Amino acid sequence: MSQSQVWHPFTQHALEPAMPEIVLTEGAYLHKADGTRILDAISSWWVVTHGHRHPRIMKAIETTASTLDQIIFAGFTHEPAERLAEALVSLAPSGLDWVFYSDSGSTSVEVALKMALGYFRNIGAPRSRIVVMEHSYHGDTIGTMSVGARGVFNAAYEPLLFEVDTLPFPAAGREQETLDRFEAVVGDRRAAALIVEPLVLGAGGMLMYPAWVLTELRKIAEASGTLLIADEVMTGWGRTGTMFACEQASISPDILCTSKGLTGGAIPLAATLATDAIFQAHYSEDRKKTFFHSSSYTANPIACAAALANVEIWQNEPLAERITALSAKQAAGLRRFGNNPFFTDSRATGTIAALDLRTGSAGYLAEIGPKLRAFFLDKGLLVRPLGNVVYLLPPYCVTGDELDGLYDAVEEAGERFG
Ligand code: PLP
Repeated sequence: MSQSQVWHPFTQHALEPAMPEIVLTEGAYLHKADGTRILDAISSWWVVTHGHRHPRIMKAIETTASTLDQIIFAGFTHEPAERLAEALVSLAPSGLDWVFYSDSGSTSVEVALKMALGYFRNIGAPRSRIVVMEHSYHGDTIGTMSVGARGVFNAAYEPLLFEVDTLPFPAAGREQETLDRFEAVVGDRRAAALIVEPLVLGAGGMLMYPAWVLTELRKIAEASGTLLIADEVMTGWGRTGTMFACEQASISPDILCTSKGLTGGAIPLAATLATDAIFQAHYSEDRKKTFFHSSSYTANPIACAAALANVEIWQNEPLAERITALSAKQAAGLRRFGNNPFFTDSRATGTIAALDLRTGSAGYLAEIGPKLRAFFLDKGLLVRPLGNVVYLLPPYCVTGDELDGLYDAVEEAGERFG
């Protein structure tokens, strides 16, 4: 290709080797212009659930595009958005009765934060603090960075927006500290919301905590009148073994954010689901109580149709069996690393497996990350470690043999770099 003018995300162009050009996506693979293919072991940044270009989703996109493109969503509606909202409400944990559309995981979280602040303002008891969890990641807009872990990703953009209280990550044996801290910070009734990634903190290093902690956090939030925002942008659509991770804690949050797997990963769309109490706080003859948020592409009909096709896949294909089998395979795959001297920890929650390499550290600046990435790419594997954290988060169509090949490559990476 000629000289590129494209500025890529999360990319230090001065250090990046030539980027492969992808000309075809199919199932679990990205096909390069030179005819070789790459196994997409991270579902193209965690979005592709069923595999690339699932026929049902592609068909829905084509069919809808023959009658609808973008429609302004203030003052107008359309069938794909209406039908999708109904489907989402029935699939989500109970009590989430309203669906607000947007177009990325970050915007779904921005919307959630604004809903929480708007709720308290509109009921006449303003609260502005947000409680967050150590190591969390909720997006790259200024608002979502403000409620995420502080570090190299956002240092350049300080000061950020929110006053936050940070809970320690509930590492094994330290869960009670997290709960005690939460109880302490909500004591003065100034926290509008606690925002969490349920069960797995993704970009923070694929850190996992047990469902009972979330159950307890929910109880404390409820007792103190603090809203619970579940950011299921990564964990939704089966990633942790259930449709939404909150199900494993038997909880319903007040607000739930979903994106990534919402369209099976085919096309951008996000939704923020909220309780009726939150909607009702904005429902008023007083225009000042309007929920002041929109984006031009809100509820794009083609994206909504893709998401509906994704829901149909969940209804018509043996997804539960597929996810159970993949989860079992990941757990079994990790067992062979139990005594591997090159890895200090291995863990899995549902379909997500992660291992910490003995050398290097977590995070974007750790040199080990790009080295590992290049090593895997050389073998035709898309694996994008978070520093020394190697994780596998493949589409659900990945085969047992492909996974075995991945574990072999991870083992070899341990020997080479560990
Ligand atoms: N929240 C979580 C938990 C995520 O993992 C991500 C992205 O990785 C986001 C929010 C942001 O989503 P997006 O990149 O679509 O804006």
